[in-house]
Amino acid sequence: MAGNITALEYEGGVVAIDSGMVRPQMAACYLLETDTAVAVVEAGNNDSAGRILKVLTSRGRQPEEVSHVIVTHVHLDHAGGAGKLMQKLPNARLVVHPRGVRHMTDPSRLEASARTVYGDEKFDEMYGTLLPVPEDRVLVMEEGSSLTVGKRELSFIDTPGHARHHFCVWDEQTAGWFTGDTFGISYRELDTENGPFIFPTSTPIQFDPPALVSSVRRMMEKAPRNMYLTHFGRVQDVQRLSKELINGVEHFAVLGERFDAHENRQQEIQTAMMKWLMERARGHGVTCSDDTLREIFMGDVVLNTQGIEFWLDRGRQRDT
Ligand SMILES: [Zn+2]
Repeated sequence: MAGNITALEYEGGVVAIDSGMVRPQMAACYLLETDTAVAVVEAGNNDSAGRILKVLTSRGRQPEEVSHVIVTHVHLDHAGGAGKLMQKLPNARLVVHPRGVRHMTDPSRLEASARTVYGDEKFDEMYGTLLPVPEDRVLVMEEGSSLTVGKRELSFIDTPGHARHHFCVWDEQTAGWFTGDTFGISYRELDTENGPFIFPTSTPIQFDPPALVSSVRRMMEKAPRNMYLTHFGRVQDVQRLSKELINGVEHFAVLGERFDAHENRQQEIQTAMMKWLMERARGHGVTCSDDTLREIFMGDVVLNTQGIEFWLDRGRQRDT
């Protein structure tokens, strides 16, 4: 057993591990198990390495069996712990998007940019020191390329919209995507008899609504049965969720444009987004108190608003 670390086992050798960030079941890392090798998808932060190792060994597997650590993109809740984790997995290669490579081999710019988003105090608390990954241990996955883990075939597509250094990983065996942040956020604490609740994440600094909608549509072309979200865990009912997610992305763009010229733009987008999320959650049948619901959404509302503002000020120029 892995102590009190949440590890959810799904069919087909997929295990979601709580990476231990912020609050329970906020962010996941995954094990992808085969007879002869194991892949880890998402590295979490520096503290996640110990949790991943603990769950891995509790399942009778050894660190030496891990052949790949795959990070969907280099935002720090996904890749901040990559350097530390790679030190503990001697035979693994780090698999990353072409635009993410330089940030993994030299995380100094990534760290500086994240400090401007989170502030020093929160950054130190959440991420500590980012460790570089040696260049010869990095494997770059271009659009359309594939990778074999044991006998398992994984393929990669470029999925801009949340970030331009983002790919998603198709697992043929379970007809599932490892979605990173491209397929939004679905916290298990908001599950109701109506199923999972979903909303987009527009974290700074490369939110691009039309690109995100296209990426979601591309993923749906595979007729997936499973979506493995970093925030948090597996969801099914994929058709409904994809529609709600696309509506959400379009709504974020509308919110941004509605308040763009307002003096209190940031505050007004935050207030409107919180109201929209809470109304949707109530419509979905979520029954916890307003305070609890606000607490669940607050961190994402702040980050999403920052991301929308980056798009308003800089990102939209790319469309013209
Ligand atoms: Zn992200």
